[in-house]
Amino acid sequence: MPDWLVYGMVYAGSALMVYNIFSYIRYELRLIKDSNWKKERQLLHVPILLLVMFLLGYLAVGIFGHPDIIVSGILFGGSIFVFIIFNVLQRITNRIQKNERLEADLRVARESSRVKSTFLSSMSHEMRTPLNAIMGLDALALQNPDLPAETRTQLEKVGDSARHLLDMINNILDMSSIEAGSLTLKEEEFSLRKTLELAGIITKNRCEEKGLTYESRFADDLDDYYVGDETMLKHALLNVLGNAVKFTPAPGSVTFTVEQTVSQGPDRELRFTIADTGVGIDKNLMPNLFTPFTIGDASNTNRFSGSGLGLALSKRVTEMMGGGIAVESKKGQGSTFTLTVRLKASGRKEEKAPEPGTENAGGETNLAGLKVLIVEDIDLNAEIVADLLDLEGISSDRAENGSVAVDMFTRSKPGTYDAILMDLRMPVMDGLDATRIIRDQNRPDAKTIPILALTANAFDEDVRNSLEAGMNAHMAKPVDPDVLFDNLRHLVPEHKEKHD
Ligand code: ADP
Repeated sequence: MPDWLVYGMVYAGSALMVYNIFSYIRYELRLIKDSNWKKERQLLHVPILLLVMFLLGYLAVGIFGHPDIIVSGILFGGSIFVFIIFNVLQRITNRIQKNERLEADLRVARESSRVKSTFLSSMSHEMRTPLNAIMGLDALALQNPDLPAETRTQLEKVGDSARHLLDMINNILDMSSIEAGSLTLKEEEFSLRKTLELAGIITKNRCEEKGLTYESRFADDLDDYYVGDETMLKHALLNVLGNAVKFTPAPGSVTFTVEQTVSQGPDRELRFTIADTGVGIDKNLMPNLFTPFTIGDASNTNRFSGSGLGLALSKRVTEMMGGGIAVESKKGQGSTFTLTVRLKASGRKEEKAPEPGTENAGGETNLAGLKVLIVEDIDLNAEIVADLLDLEGISSDRAENGSVAVDMFTRSKPGTYDAILMDLRMPVMDGLDATRIIRDQNRPDAKTIPILALTANAFDEDVRNSLEAGMNAHMAKPVDPDVLFDNLRHLVPEHKEKHD
């Protein structure tokens, strides 16, 4: 065996070992920067010591010994082996560190999304409060029978725009809670027929205003009650129905069909088809139709062109309900949207007679003569609610925060108030605390008096909190007069029965 090969291997091995030691040290320095790698770094001291000893050994053999091919082969191979193992180790560390960085980024992203959602929640509060004033005052102004026609039209437009703004705020809120992963679907029993009828009435009215024909076909085999999130389903449908009306010029038509496509045990699949004979959708718009925040066809831009959120929201909601949304459309000929959802049938059958306590023989509970305590810190809002109540002959007192409300309730004779309308966010004492204190009092009406949360916070958590604090119902501002009166018709007689 030639000497040059033997010595070549010994010295090349030594050189490689010097390189190994050098990169080992560089590697350790890199770990020093990463504070959570302390333990691993300490462990790395041991191999460095071994490597230095190896290196000295190599040199000793090369300089003083007479290495043969086997010894030099083992030494050279050892260096290569260390080189390879070390490379693998570095790569693994790289990957782990990269993952750690990604995880840190993800934490930051989650946190910022949480902050965004909290921000939107309080923004919605700030936006709904003035909107509440606008819509309430507008509705009140429209009650005046002596309005000049022009003023009436203008006031109606104010109302339309305010409602449109509210829709948009609601869509943005829903979308942001879905994106933040904080929106969970409710599992509540609801009457699909009622939901469909309501959506139908709204759409029919819009069609009539525009001079369109509206037609609805609801399958006969629909169940009476389903379990699911009625509110979100209604949003999803109304978004698509609203578009159908919006993008169909007169004379045209909108058709709303509902079928049950699957019925196995309690499982149901429902298919909602919304067809219009309107302007249709351009081919190149299709790919982005369901992507949030992509605004639609610029040529369609009318005074109500939206934020491009409606369809995105409908898609997410139907997907969360185990279905989806599809569209077929020809420019200039119309569009057909198909929404599917999976729900469970609850098995309950519609009762023919009205539920006891909610209605009298005439079908309507008379609200006149009731007295309600309004707890609301903003003067204007309190006035609006008082005026609304006044329309039905309900008198009211007002407390400007929770603490005043507790005082007024405590000082009043039992039975003075038939219900309390409670704002949630107020200075001095908020609505939740005030409700807890009132419910804890030892007097006959403390446990039964209906307390209705009336608040701009429309987040699920607020609903839960207010119910947990002992409230009977939760109404989002701006208050819908019908919802308010329905709640009172429903809750006040129940309370009177228990209390009297
Ligand atoms: P927006 O709030 O902007 O209406 P949508 O997500 O509801 O957002 O709709 C996005 C776009 O899709 C619309 O701007 C419109 O261009 C188009 N579009 C939706 N529905 C229809 C329809 N029925 N007919 C024609 N175009 C439609």
